[in-house]
Amino acid sequence: MPNLSGLPPELEAKRLQAAKAYNKVALLNLFVAMGLLVALPFLVMRFGQLAAAVYLLLVVLPGMAAGLYLAVKRGDAYCREIGLLCPHCHQPLFEARSTAYLTGSCPKCRARVASVQ
Ligand SMILES: [Zn+2]
Repeated sequence: MPNLSGLPPELEAKRLQAAKAYNKVALLNLFVAMGLLVALPFLVMRFGQLAAAVYLLLVVLPGMAAGLYLAVKRGDAYCREIGLLCPHCHQPLFEARSTAYLTGSCPKCRARVASVQ
């Protein structure tokens, strides 16, 4: 597999590990959210639209936000466990929504972590 990140091979391997771990948590979040949304039509039929709207606003949306927050926090903790940290600011080098790592730069402080190969 080609190294697209510009990171040294050992950091690239750790970055891929962190990405896979994050993707597992994100996929779990997606399945939980889908499960919560499946209940929506049954709530409408049984209790009406107001109950379904309350369920959506008080259970589904906060649940999805909490799942995303936990995925990010778990990703940061995993980066610390495997040592995927910026040598400059000591923050995790993996960020799911960032493409900064593709340039070999830290997504937090933007410092160069490695020269682009
Ligand atoms: Zn940094």
